[in-house]
Amino acid sequence: MKARFAPSPTGLLHVGNARVALINWLHARHGGGEFVLRIDDTDRARSRPEFEAAIEADLAWLGLDWDARYRQSERVALYAAAFERLSKAGRLYACYESQEELELKRRSQLARGEPPRYDRAALGLTEADHARLAGAGQVPHWRFRLADGATEWTDLVRGAVRFEAAHLSDPILFRVGREAVYQLASVVDDLDLGITHVIRGEDHVANTPIHIQIALALGGEPDSIRFAHLPLLTDTGGAKLSKRLGGLALGDLKADGIEAMAVNSLLARLGSADRVVAVGDLEALAAGFDLGHFGRAPPKFDTAELARLNAELLHRLSFERAAGRLRALGLGAVDPVMWLALRGNLVRLADIADWLPVCRGTIEPVIEDPAFAAEAAQLLPPEPWDTATWQGWTDAVKAATGRAGRALFHPLRLALTGRERGPELRNLLPIIGHARALARLRGDRA
Ligand code: GLU
Repeated sequence: MKARFAPSPTGLLHVGNARVALINWLHARHGGGEFVLRIDDTDRARSRPEFEAAIEADLAWLGLDWDARYRQSERVALYAAAFERLSKAGRLYACYESQEELELKRRSQLARGEPPRYDRAALGLTEADHARLAGAGQVPHWRFRLADGATEWTDLVRGAVRFEAAHLSDPILFRVGREAVYQLASVVDDLDLGITHVIRGEDHVANTPIHIQIALALGGEPDSIRFAHLPLLTDTGGAKLSKRLGGLALGDLKADGIEAMAVNSLLARLGSADRVVAVGDLEALAAGFDLGHFGRAPPKFDTAELARLNAELLHRLSFERAAGRLRALGLGAVDPVMWLALRGNLVRLADIADWLPVCRGTIEPVIEDPAFAAEAAQLLPPEPWDTATWQGWTDAVKAATGRAGRALFHPLRLALTGRERGPELRNLLPIIGHARALARLRGDRA
C-alpha cells in the first residue's frame, strides 16, 4: 500500500488540505504502507519555494512524516517520455486555439445550453494545415484524445462511479513548449511511484475518468490504483470552507494555541461513522482508522469542537510532553506540580500564564468578609503543605465558623486567587504557600 499527499505549493495548507494529508497518512500507516509527499509544482508561475517550506513545516507540526518526497519540477524527463508514448499510441493531438478562441467556443456552447467541451476541431487538421500553421510560427499545445464509451471505477468513498465520454472534454496535457500539466504529471507519477491509493477531495472526481484513461494509455494495469474522493468540509452553516477564509490555515491554528493532535483528532474522524474524540497520538488514530467509514455528506468543521478537543488533550497532557513547549512560550517557570494543578483549567496551553501570578506571583485578593477571612488565616496550619492540607484546614474553618458549602469555599477562593473560578484549591494551596496565603487572607496584595 502506498498513498500520497500532493499539494500544489501555491498557498498555505488549511484544514481542508490537512484533512486530505492526514487521511492519506492514516490509511497508509493503518495498512502498514508508505506515505509519499509529492510537491505538484507544474504551475511554475504560481508555485513558490516559501509555500513548499511552509507546507512541509505544517505537516511536520501535525506529525505526518513521509517516506519519500518528490517534486514534479524535477521529474520532467518522465513527462517527456509519456509524451512520446501517448503520441505513438495516437492519443495526443496538436491544437492551436488561443485562450480567447477557446473562451468564445465555451460561451457559445453555454448559450446553446450545451456543456462546455472542446469540439475537437484540431482533429480535423490535415498534414498540410499543420505545416502551414508551423510555418506561420504557431506553436501547438497538446490534447489527450479520450476513448469513447464510459469510464467506471469503484470509489472507496462514493461507491460505483461512471462517467460517459460524451460528458468529458479532451484535456490539454501539454502546454505550448510541451510543458506537462497537472493531469498528465499526476498520472505519470502515480504510476511510476507505485501509488496504490489516491485519496483526495471530491473536487477531483471529474478528473478521475481522465486519469484512469491516461493511466491505461500509458500501460498502467486497470484498477492498480484505487480512488477515494472525500466530500469537502463546510463551515457550521454548511457553506464551503475556502482557502480565503481567515483563521483556518494550519499556521493560524498553531499560532492560536491549538494542539496538533486536536486538529488530527477532529480531522481524522469528521465525516466518518466514528465518533470524534480527543486522541493523544497519531498511532492510536491510525490503529482505529477505516476509510470505509467515511460517508458522502459534507462534514461541518466547527472551531468550537476543535477548542473542546484541545482542552481535553491539555487536561491529560503529561508534564514531560508539555515542558519543552512551555519553555518555548517563555513559561519555563511552570514546574511539574504547577502543571498538574493547572492543566485541568486550560483551553490553550498559553492560558497557563494567567495562573502564574496566583501560584507564585502577586494578586489583588478579594475579601468579602474580613472577619471570616481573618479567622481562616489564623487557622492556617504550619508548613510543609501538600494536597491534603486544604481538607484539614477547611474542616477546621468549618468547625470554627459554622460555615459550609459555597459560603465556606467561595470566600476562600476569592481571597486566595482573586477569582471566581479556577483550578482545585487543594492543588493550588501548597503552591501558593503559607506566607502568600496568610497575606492574601488579610487582604494584602501578595
Ligand atoms: N495538486 C493537486 C491538488 O492540490 C493534487 C490532487 C491529487 O491528489 O491528485 O489539488
